[in-house]
Amino acid sequence: MSMNSVGRSTKSDQVAPSGSGDCSLLPAEPLLFEIGSTEHSGVDLPDIEVDDKRLGNFRRQTPLELPGLSEPENMRHYVRLSRLNYSIDAGLYPLGSCTMKHNPRLNEKMARLPGFADVHPLQPVSTVQGALGVISELAHWLMTLTNTSAVAMSPKAGAHGEMCGMMAIKAAHAASGQGHRNIVLVPESAHGTNPATAAFLGYKVVPIPAKSDGTVDVSAVEEALSADVAAIMLTNPNTCGLFEPDVKKIADAVHKAGGYFYCDGANFNAIMGVIRPGDLGIDAMHINLHKTFSTPHGGGGPGAGPVVLSDALAPFAPVPFVQKSNEGFVVEEHGDGNSSFGRLCAFHGQMGMFTRALTYMLSHGGDGLTQAAKDAVLNANYLKARLQEEFSMPYGDQPCMHETLSDDSFLEGTGVTTLDFAKAMIDEGYHPMTMYFPLVVHGAMLIEPTESESLYALDAFAQTMLDLAKSAKAGDVERFVNAPTKAPLRRLDETGAARNPVLKWSK
Ligand SMILES: *Cc1c(COP(=O)(O)O)cnc(C)c1O
Repeated sequence: MSMNSVGRSTKSDQVAPSGSGDCSLLPAEPLLFEIGSTEHSGVDLPDIEVDDKRLGNFRRQTPLELPGLSEPENMRHYVRLSRLNYSIDAGLYPLGSCTMKHNPRLNEKMARLPGFADVHPLQPVSTVQGALGVISELAHWLMTLTNTSAVAMSPKAGAHGEMCGMMAIKAAHAASGQGHRNIVLVPESAHGTNPATAAFLGYKVVPIPAKSDGTVDVSAVEEALSADVAAIMLTNPNTCGLFEPDVKKIADAVHKAGGYFYCDGANFNAIMGVIRPGDLGIDAMHINLHKTFSTPHGGGGPGAGPVVLSDALAPFAPVPFVQKSNEGFVVEEHGDGNSSFGRLCAFHGQMGMFTRALTYMLSHGGDGLTQAAKDAVLNANYLKARLQEEFSMPYGDQPCMHETLSDDSFLEGTGVTTLDFAKAMIDEGYHPMTMYFPLVVHGAMLIEPTESESLYALDAFAQTMLDLAKSAKAGDVERFVNAPTKAPLRRLDETGAARNPVLKWSK
């Protein structure tokens, strides 16, 4: 009970964390407000000598009640919080669709160089030539990998990239007198951000059903096309972990009907260096640097979702963008011929993410990126083959891309649900896979190992998963419905937390 010895004002009903280093048995960490007390302060502040008459009625009448803690108390609070986290640095993170891959430490070293970390977007461009050079070179890699001619670098996440691409599509239609087009087609297997983006921009979303093999039905797309369709938003590889074999046919049909093809490229991890989406007829596609190019994410951490654009959409790209000139790199603030849809956000995007992504690319080289994509696919197929013994894989008769999907029919009659299964994984030391997504299969479990896992790690994970599945089928329901037993908190009311967030602490 070392915490008490540093003067922590522990409430009697709280259990102080043990010093054992075993985070699995730590109780939930109390808030700073609950640990500290207003009578204490970690620093000695001099009395203020201000004539407080100048404040008039604005003078604070009640004490501020900030919790006072010493530096070690503060530090321990945050270190204990960090130990409650599951992270890719602590173990395999099989969250499908999220590409939780290892972030090489070289990336961090580069991102922390002062010339990248300490720049300000309003600095004179002559003083940030190196940083602009990174943005420009990264843009070049993204266009090369996708065979496209333009890229908007500023979007700060995948969903933001979708918005950027769809705004370019909207601007292009308006410029050619097609502003009436108000429908966006979205396959059922799409990521939830796709229909959300279309709806946010005022489009009517028309869903396209999937075929029984999990891929998009081309004839359903052709039937839905009309003079009112602005675009299709299609994820490829799709969220069932499958490559859309008819993607070219779909692109051609959409173009013939005067629409644009927005491709959700968040799963680019599976195909980078193998297929160039520009060759498949895409008009816009975001790339999640924080997935495919390894930069850390999760917990709302910074992302970056640059959007590559076809020749048709390039003139509508947002400003500002970086251009090479005889005097070095310049920042174009107004756009070519003023057809740009304007500013998506204040400046250029996430410098730290750009630096990490370019470092990842340069350290792999083009051939290394191809290998990474192939290894990601190989790893997923290995897991698929091993798990197929006990799990029910709806599209198991065909190879998957970088992620493999099970439904919950193998749990039928066991009294164990997908949610219970996920919670039991926590007790085994694993972060759960993505669950109940995609919506096209019942009780989905979407598993993405990424290329960073070794055969040893994959085998250990597969063994645990098979063991859990066998135990559910053998009737050991307790192991599931009570799980997690080793986490600081048990089952949380996530919906309640989202609907009624308690954002303010009160005594
Ligand atoms: C992650 C993801 C997105 C959204 O990206 P964010 O950076 O989380 O906004 C969109 N589509 C797919 C398929 C994804 O996996």
